[in-house]
Amino acid sequence: MTFKELGLSEALLKAVADQGYETPSPIQEKAIPKILQGQDVLASAQTGTGKTAGFAMPMIQLLAKEPPRQRRPIRALVLTPTRELASQVLEDVQNYSKYVDLRSTVIFGGVKQNPQVDQLKRGIDILVACPGRLMDLESQGFVDLRQIEFLVLDEADRMLDMGFLRDIKRIIAMMPLKRQNLLFSATFSSDIRKLANGLLTNPVTVEATPENTTADRVDQIVYKVDQARKTELITKLIWDGNWHQVLVFTRTKHGANRLVQKLEKAKITAAAIHGNKSQAARTKALANFKKGEVSVLVATDIAARGLDIPLLPYVINFELPNVPEDYVHRIGRTGRAGAAGIAISLVSVEELEYVRGIEKLLGMPLVQEIIEGFEPTKGPVEGGKKRMHGKGGNTSGGREIRNNNTTNRNNGNTNRNVRQKSRSKGGDNRN
Ligand code: ADP
Ligand code: MG
Repeated sequence: MTFKELGLSEALLKAVADQGYETPSPIQEKAIPKILQGQDVLASAQTGTGKTAGFAMPMIQLLAKEPPRQRRPIRALVLTPTRELASQVLEDVQNYSKYVDLRSTVIFGGVKQNPQVDQLKRGIDILVACPGRLMDLESQGFVDLRQIEFLVLDEADRMLDMGFLRDIKRIIAMMPLKRQNLLFSATFSSDIRKLANGLLTNPVTVEATPENTTADRVDQIVYKVDQARKTELITKLIWDGNWHQVLVFTRTKHGANRLVQKLEKAKITAAAIHGNKSQAARTKALANFKKGEVSVLVATDIAARGLDIPLLPYVINFELPNVPEDYVHRIGRTGRAGAAGIAISLVSVEELEYVRGIEKLLGMPLVQEIIEGFEPTKGPVEGGKKRMHGKGGNTSGGREIRNNNTTNRNNGNTNRNVRQKSRSKGGDNRN
């Protein structure tokens, strides 16, 4: 399949070529023709599979069919859960609409509203927004949604998780009934289906599920370790492996800050990205991470949602999420665009039940290992035996537990290590 065969116009094809995309991704193949036909679409595909282009390109093409109207009323609204995601969606929209006459902008909270209001006053065809600031500006009379032709809910599952359902409903009430609705999500929960039922008219459902729930280009490993020693272990892993471009997930904002401080103390450059940081601080942290000036980005689930970080070799779960789906989202940050990745989870005995939930969702067991010198002092609940000094034993339901150490791992001759070596080239020398 080519983009041309999907029915995209010259202006869009040129923009796609500029992006260097060669062939449409599976979700794009399925969604683009339906959207071009004017249908409501409910689409689900894993993170990193090109969903943005899947809705943005056909929508832009349809919008561009009509010459710009006087004073440019807002004709399309894309709602996203986080500011980072909103900025990225806008960037994509602007890339894909380079060769058509459409104006777009983004609005979100945490920054001054005046520049956003000025943009809106100049006339905007496509508005990308987070719900809070949108409602705020609407109530002040700066946003008029009465001419909306397209509504997109991007990362809809996360918007529901974040409690945006009421806001979404209020925003929808500001729009005309006749419009095309697109709902994009990484997962298809029953809540998403319920939302879709209330929102979409005769929708087409398109789904692109990978053969394995998680990309098999991602090596997933669980290291069992005591909670109290996780910082020490993560420092050792990053330091010994000379890892760069590491995305670390913590459960709390406070935990993220604390870990950054400890990594910095160990002379590993790190920055935190979470909801309590100012927009400027988050943008700066992400930019520095992308440039390679910061080796480790520590994030909470909400802040990291939808972040587009190309070629991310390492994802570390400092703590496991209590929602298994979040695990899939997290490790969706690695192994993107054909590149291989490693997802490591540091798991304390208290978190073993989360491992079981994740394994159930993935439909496969995760490799569980213990690193020499970091043997958990608390025995696994399962099996009831205490496992000391990392010695063999198979105490957890037939899962593989190997007595391993990082030195061997780094010098061994597995694929994983080849990657580590090639990635650490050009890294600083930390002796
Ligand atoms: P999702 O929303 O599914 O998580 P994105 O839309 O953010 O994924 O896309 C992930 C990355 O893939 C982006 O960097 C995007 O530019 C790139 N991308 C999108 N479509 C294609 C394509 N057809 N070929 C190559 N890269 C693509
Ligand atoms: Mg997306």
